[in-house]
Amino acid sequence: MSLCKDCDAEILYGEKPDGTRIAVDREPRSDGALAMLGRGTRMPPLIIPDHWVDGAVQHLDAETMAAITYMPHTASCVGAQRHRERRDRTEAESAD
Ligand SMILES: [Zn+2]
Repeated sequence: MSLCKDCDAEILYGEKPDGTRIAVDREPRSDGALAMLGRGTRMPPLIIPDHWVDGAVQHLDAETMAAITYMPHTASCVGAQRHRERRDRTEAESAD
């Protein structure tokens, strides 16, 4: 379990097949954008590429999909939002 350094929310890291890690909200949700499958305790969950989701995984029922799909944390992070607003304000002030 990790905590977001911007908003202290609990987050998970998934890993794409190319090794890129993406922070997602801790709780899976039915409208999540990323499907992930666990690989045990020593490796982060694998983020399933879209073309896999369109193939094999689409046969899973809705309840199962809702349990393995996550929303990227950048979509809900209130800390990142605050950072953006502060930066925008600073840029607006320095523009005068
Ligand atoms: Zn956050």
